Amino acid sequence: MRHGHKWGNKLRGCGFRLTIGREAIVDILSHTNSHMSAEDIFFALHADSPNIGLTTVYRTLELLEKNGIVSKYEFGHGRAKFELTEAYGNKPHHHHLICRKCGTIIDYSDFMEDELAYLKKTEAGLGKKYKFTIHQHSISFFGICEKCGAS
Ligand SMILES: [Zn+2]
Ligand SMILES: [Zn+2]
Ligand SMILES: [Zn+2]
Repeated sequence: MRHGHKWGNKLRGCGFRLTIGREAIVDILSHTNSHMSAEDIFFALHADSPNIGLTTVYRTLELLEKNGIVSKYEFGHGRAKFELTEAYGNKPHHHHLICRKCGTIIDYSDFMEDELAYLKKTEAGLGKKYKFTIHQHSISFFGICEKCGAS
């Protein structure tokens, strides 16, 4: 099954129509490895779809986020960035390394040896302590990238 069908079904199931704008935005996000801001998406769409305005992009991203199709990240370096969630995108589960200086975002899924085991243990412990059912986590580390550290 293609991803397009999956997210389309999700939106339709929630009573939303599958518009050209929505389709185009998910399409762009599913063909990039980077984390895009609403402006990035607007400019990327502009050549082929000059009718899709920035406001539409903002509204669509909001809708997609509410429906669990995109994740929104406030990485603190300018504008909010978006990527498709694990359930709807092509990227595997990953964590982020974010450079405070240049805003570079590194996705990594080649986890450290004990990282996953430790997280699993943490989630189990937190679940027990707070009687909380954890469905997912989002992990981002902030600092200085190699390039910025060297300069
Ligand atoms: Zn993780
Ligand atoms: Zn940097
Ligand atoms: Zn990412």
